[in-house]
Amino acid sequence: MVEKSSAAAIDVDTIVIGAGFYGCEIALQMKQLGHERVVLAENRPGILERASFVNQARVHNGYHYPRSIPTALRSHVNFERFVEVYRHAVLFDMTMIYAIAKGSRVSASQFVRFCETMGIPCREPHVRLVRLFEPGLIDECFLTHEIAFDSRRLADDLSRRITESKLDLRLESRAHVVGADDRAVTVAVGASTFRARFVFNCTYGELPFAGVALRAGIKRELTEMLLLRPPHLLAKVGVTVMDGPFFSTMPFPAVGLHSLSHVRYTPHWAVNDNNLRHLTPLRSNGIAMLREAAHFLPCLAAADPIRSIFEIKAILTRNEDDDGRPILIEQSEASPRIWSILGSKIDNIFDALDFIAHRDWTW
Ligand SMILES: Cc1cc2nc3c(=O)[nH]c(=O)nc-3n(C[C@H](O)[C@H](O)[C@H](O)COP(=O)(O)OP(=O)(O)OC[C@H]3O[C@@H](n4cnc5c(N)ncnc54)[C@H](O)[C@@H]3O)c2cc1C
Repeated sequence: MVEKSSAAAIDVDTIVIGAGFYGCEIALQMKQLGHERVVLAENRPGILERASFVNQARVHNGYHYPRSIPTALRSHVNFERFVEVYRHAVLFDMTMIYAIAKGSRVSASQFVRFCETMGIPCREPHVRLVRLFEPGLIDECFLTHEIAFDSRRLADDLSRRITESKLDLRLESRAHVVGADDRAVTVAVGASTFRARFVFNCTYGELPFAGVALRAGIKRELTEMLLLRPPHLLAKVGVTVMDGPFFSTMPFPAVGLHSLSHVRYTPHWAVNDNNLRHLTPLRSNGIAMLREAAHFLPCLAAADPIRSIFEIKAILTRNEDDDGRPILIEQSEASPRIWSILGSKIDNIFDALDFIAHRDWTW
């Protein structure tokens, strides 16, 4: 990496690029670790406006990953911690049903064994809930222990902590790494130039575009979720039908609606290269996914579709087949002072914070 000289560069300790959930927490942690001058650069007018808002809001407890035991285990371990630390932002008062479709890649008995092995609750639901499903299409359904988070509450709490810690948050400021030498990394942030001892690239769907070359392959997928007003029978109930081309609908507490995603209709298209920067939807699949899901869960026919939300999902190409969602923490080859962090799920935040807590950031 070639250093571009800049006479007016401002010296700081750390720059974090991207004020999603990961960038905010990591910037706050660097402050706690003693870095006085921490800049958090965000392209958008506010924090947590991208994937940290546009997601299914599930605090994973492992159920989703019967084909990736390491991810299931990490989810389960992080679940209790997330609930403890962010209890102000989770919806406890809800029921989550996992249903095994006929033709699922995982059978009902395999799912039960998987839950037993993991030590996660999996019980027979009340008959009122069983009757929600079309019996010809579902083998069995299970009452599980999973909840939703409220990204607006997470954002409010992070805003308060950012203000209290006197972190230098720069909104509407696109950041780009432009060079590095032995002592510092040069980063353009909006119209300013900084020299930082350490840089964290926490830009998720835009990870390849912050001026930091990555070794890990990343698939970027344009995704759609439909927000809907649920029928009375689904109020405070989440449903996940698995394992294959099925769907999930569950509370989306940030706006008081339900989200609906479908394995076939949520992804619009995907790219494995870093060339395409503008991934915009050509059309909405919202009504198609609602129609398809209503075959399995007939009460969904009475749902009121409100609007779709779109976001880039970033998936490590090595986990495309096993559905695993581990965190990526990659030190740049260009400079040991630059780190890229892809938190594939919200609860992986603890893996990032634990990693950072155990390293030396004093040099
Ligand atoms: C459809 C979908 C469903 C999901 N469902 C779940 C779920 O149910 N549960 C779960 O745990 N996880 C889920 N995830 C994953 C979860 O959303 C992400 O792991 C998490 O939000 C990543 O947080 P982040 O802070 O890394 O990214 P983001 O929240 O996207 O933050 C990155 C920030 O970087 C900013 N940025 C980008 N480039 C620049 C730049 N050059 N300069 C300055 N700023 C920049 C962006 O504006 C953005 O604010 C889902 C993701 C998607 C897309």
